Amino acid sequence: MPTKKLYGFLEVSETASQDEIRKAYRRLALKLHPDKNPDNPEAAEKFKEASAAYEVLSDPNKRARYDQFGDEGLADGGMGNFDAASVFEQFFGGGFHDLFGFGGGGFGGGGGPRKGKSIKYVLGVTLQDMYTGKVKKLKLTHNVICTVCKGTGSKNPDVKATTCSKCKGQGVQMMMNQIGRGMYQQMMTTCTDCGGSGKCIMDKCDTCHGLQTVEEAKLIEVPIEPGMEEGQTIFIQGGGDEEVGVPPGDLVVVIKEKKDPSMPFERIENNLLVELDLTLHEALLGSNQALKMPDDRIINIKTSSIIKPGDIFTVENEGMPSYKQPNVKGQLYIRFSVIFPDELSSDKRRALAEVLPPPPPHNLSGGKEVKPKYFKNEADARRKPKDDHQTTSASASSSSSFHNPEHESPERAKKRSMVVKRSEPKEKLVN
Ligand SMILES: [Zn+2]
Ligand SMILES: [Zn+2]
Repeated sequence: MPTKKLYGFLEVSETASQDEIRKAYRRLALKLHPDKNPDNPEAAEKFKEASAAYEVLSDPNKRARYDQFGDEGLADGGMGNFDAASVFEQFFGGGFHDLFGFGGGGFGGGGGPRKGKSIKYVLGVTLQDMYTGKVKKLKLTHNVICTVCKGTGSKNPDVKATTCSKCKGQGVQMMMNQIGRGMYQQMMTTCTDCGGSGKCIMDKCDTCHGLQTVEEAKLIEVPIEPGMEEGQTIFIQGGGDEEVGVPPGDLVVVIKEKKDPSMPFERIENNLLVELDLTLHEALLGSNQALKMPDDRIINIKTSSIIKPGDIFTVENEGMPSYKQPNVKGQLYIRFSVIFPDELSSDKRRALAEVLPPPPPHNLSGGKEVKPKYFKNEADARRKPKDDHQTTSASASSSSSFHNPEHESPERAKKRSMVVKRSEPKEKLVN
């Protein structure tokens, strides 16, 4: 006889009817759901087991196979990549939160202390605001307790609401939903008479129509502190929806970095990366360049050694401020692009030939002379059909880089420097 643990998970006998299996799952799922049992791994495991069992035993075909082969016949032991939440949602027609409210415990108590619905808000924040810190004003619509009826929902506040007769105060009702010929699914939905409150009001308040709360736009100040980063959350207690008899819900603001085209800096953890252009003159003979920081301070970037395209330099303590320690800053990475002149007069060519070191002898070794053709980028060069023999010269094909500084305009140089960006700057740091 094969072992059949799934029946045990649902606490039913092997001869249980489909109806008994459904009832058993409903009872266990509501009792064991993780949202009703926070920090209870045992309940979570049992919830998963009951859901896995229901998934198999509620399907006549799967159940027949299981009856024949038992636990051995289950792939992954039946519990592999099993999604207990989706079984629950299919059964009840919604997630635990949808059915019982975000605050949890809306059904039959339990869980943590009950409070109003929390509101999550994704707030776009610029790099500058995260550098300097800023109080952002947020206009949000949330539910507040109706001031006209003082949250009773009734025209006459002295008349107490009565328990809803339809749901008997539970706030939820069972509905039969036909899912196939002769097949019904039992669904738990919010009571239509009382809207889930479990109370009925005879003479409803004209302002809130008995709902006890009204929507109100509110201006909320969200403090962005220096050093905050994308994905960080700011928790504003009581900033969510108000509900009668319980503390208001919270506002959870999630930071998302908003791109600012005028900001030349890119954030890498606690560091800042900036790209600076140098002329050939500056790259060879030194430079002094003003750089406006995100807090509008100007610092002068001075170089005196020879800078090659793509070189990265660092400045200590000029990166992003650290969260809660704004005076401790990360590093500033500076990546230099060298802008070559587009053309040279013959006088300048002659002058350069005199000052620059002579070409190495391999340039004069006397092979067949070919002239490499210029392409904007490597992808274009590769796309070229094979018949264009002119381009596949020895020098071009032997090198993976098609960059030809003599033909490069500043725009091209810029684009090329962006390609370099993909490499990890930390490996290339030069102090
Ligand atoms: Zn009701
Ligand atoms: Zn009212």
